[in-house]
Amino acid sequence: MSKKILVVEDSLTFRNYLEQLLTQAGYQVFSAENMVQAQAILAVEPEFLCCILDYCLPDSSDGEMIELALTYQHKAIVLTALINPELREELLTKGVVDYLVKDSTASVAYLLPLVQRLEKNQRHKCLVVDDSQTVRNHVVQLLDRQYIPAVQAENGKQALTLLENNPSITFVITDHDMPEKDGITMTREIRQSWNKNQLAILGLSASEDPTLTALFLKAGANDFLNKPFHPEEFYCRVHQILDMKETSNKLYRMANQDALTGLWNRRYLFNQACNGCQERNIAMLDIDHFKQVNDNYGHDGGDAALVTIAKILQLYFPNDLVARFGGEEFCIQTCSDFVAFAEQLEKLRRRIEKTTIYHNDIEIKVTISIGVASAQTTLDEQIKLADDRLYLAKENGRNLVVTQ
Ligand code: GH3
Ligand code: MG
Ligand code: MG
Repeated sequence: MSKKILVVEDSLTFRNYLEQLLTQAGYQVFSAENMVQAQAILAVEPEFLCCILDYCLPDSSDGEMIELALTYQHKAIVLTALINPELREELLTKGVVDYLVKDSTASVAYLLPLVQRLEKNQRHKCLVVDDSQTVRNHVVQLLDRQYIPAVQAENGKQALTLLENNPSITFVITDHDMPEKDGITMTREIRQSWNKNQLAILGLSASEDPTLTALFLKAGANDFLNKPFHPEEFYCRVHQILDMKETSNKLYRMANQDALTGLWNRRYLFNQACNGCQERNIAMLDIDHFKQVNDNYGHDGGDAALVTIAKILQLYFPNDLVARFGGEEFCIQTCSDFVAFAEQLEKLRRRIEKTTIYHNDIEIKVTISIGVASAQTTLDEQIKLADDRLYLAKENGRNLVVTQ
């Protein structure tokens, strides 16, 4: 469901512009031209991702609209024609998310990314590490203002334990001077298990030591900030860290997932293949006479068949690595028992045989051949063996599972 945004702005032109910008981006926009109208909306609509508020309105010329939105616990982004150091300080102290100066196009262009950032923030979780309860509370409050959930640790040692038990943590904000384990040592230890893209780290310190920034960065921190910091700079750094993390995750998915079926690709299979256990079993699967599917129903029909088969594979092997190996070939890697695996593959074969694939009012039927192999010295050898057995299945009439 699309997220709701309240826009309160007296200029019709600007209000229409914002409404269009946000609606096109997929948000549900509620507009008001003054505080009275806004109040009526706020009284009946409890859920807003954020409120975009003009500082100066005909019936509230001194920021009263902001106070009102904040009493409803909403996240406020302020639009103002003029900004001076006193107003900037006043707004940020009140607890608004951010402010935008209306007369600059660059500033308005910053609005949509900011709103989208707020929405994406909810998918992150920050671990705040500091021995001072006051600092931790302050940081947690700043994060909460931008929808970022947080957990806390008093020192590096506690933080490492928390990280191991909470895979949902996406980034860490850490002090340096702490009992038990300091921030730089902790950062170094984190980097033995998580790289910069998996877990971002922002170092903080009030120390006068000028070498601390470099030490934090060399230990593997993504960025560093001196205490005390201004909330505006804090948000800029956090946003930058999260933007980079999301971009690199997206690139990772693009490099490792098949665009048509969404399955993992061959590259991922070879990088992630489990080497640790004896029970690693592999199946190679190939659609029978797939060329004919393309010839009879067009490339579109072939694509639809590939997508359907991929979905069925995931349905039958939800806990295993299912990859599109290339073309109409798939590979499944499992750590479950060989006999149970072969039985499940046989069920899969029968399910596909019975499945009708619907595409543009045409009905497509396909079958698959499968070769299975248990762990060999190397993954390459194992895949080769599974492939040889797949070839046997083809030779013996197709639509078969061959296990030896
Ligand atoms: P066999 O039973 O021996 O496996 O016969 P086959 O026709 O399935 O095998 P062949 O390797 O001759 O043909 C595979 C075909 O798969 C050829 C290729 O055009 C088609 N193909 C590969 N990738 C895609 C794709 O992404 N989409 C579609 N529609 N077709 C694809
Ligand atoms: Mg084939
Ligand atoms: Mg093939």
